[in-house]
Amino acid sequence: MVREIKVKSLLNKHKKRDSCFLDDYTLNPYAGCSMGCIYCYTRGSKYGARQTPENVTNMDVALKADAASILKRQLKNRLRRGERGFIVLGSAAEAYPNVENDLKVTREILGLIKRFKFPVHVCTRSKLVLRDLDLLRAVNETAVLPDDLDYLEHGVFISFSFSTLDEGLARLLEPGAPSPQERLETMKKCSVAGFKVGVINMPVLPFLSDSDESLEAMVKSAKEHGASYVMFAALTLFGNGPEDCRTLYYKFLEDNYPELIPEYQKLFRNSSYPSNTYQKDLSRRAKKVSDKYNIKTRIL
Ligand code: SF4
Repeated sequence: MVREIKVKSLLNKHKKRDSCFLDDYTLNPYAGCSMGCIYCYTRGSKYGARQTPENVTNMDVALKADAASILKRQLKNRLRRGERGFIVLGSAAEAYPNVENDLKVTREILGLIKRFKFPVHVCTRSKLVLRDLDLLRAVNETAVLPDDLDYLEHGVFISFSFSTLDEGLARLLEPGAPSPQERLETMKKCSVAGFKVGVINMPVLPFLSDSDESLEAMVKSAKEHGASYVMFAALTLFGNGPEDCRTLYYKFLEDNYPELIPEYQKLFRNSSYPSNTYQKDLSRRAKKVSDKYNIKTRIL
């Protein structure tokens, strides 16, 4: 039995669209994420105080009561005000957790997105997205794009997120997620079905998946599996509580790579972000390898 929580809103309007994610709106059909990634910044105290419905941690997924009727009202209101825009589906939690197989909440939500002709950017790791390619195809063909993006040829983008292509490392870090190889194969199927697809290489893990060789392997595999973009960002570590990703990540290092702890301490100091120098260097190297494979580092 899936736990149900009450929410007032499904659709969150963003002040400014990010050219990486095209997030005019974000929408998370479920609260909490079944993937259980230990580096996930949406777990623990970072959002705990402000965003309780999204902050159901530890692979615990909850159903949002009356999701479809709340969304229907919100989409109608946005249309009345002429506020067309891309909806990022699964921005803070997997839109296709295992329970979606039976509950079909995300499918119902996609049906509404299609009905109201909004474009959508699906962020996922799950092959269950393949079940909904019929609806996504209809959205792709009929979505009305926001005025400033009316030159785009697609009303749907589907992105798959990765922190590493190393299967063993992924098992430790992302215990509830499909393997990297499975994600690549799902992406390929979406691409073959005619969708614009790409990779979100976030977070890139310092000293574990950030070498030139790792970045190149990610871009090369992405390209071979149909991606037209790969977006990169470095690891962030928040909070010191028992459920916080900084605590969990350092525990992971302690258990598996204790020799890296001083390196991480030097890189992050007291911040949640690695040093600016590191971030700039990562962007430069990611851009270089992306240029080599003629692949974009953002959707637009
Ligand atoms: S898939 Fe994304 S939202 Fe879910 S736990 Fe992993 S990082 Fe967090």
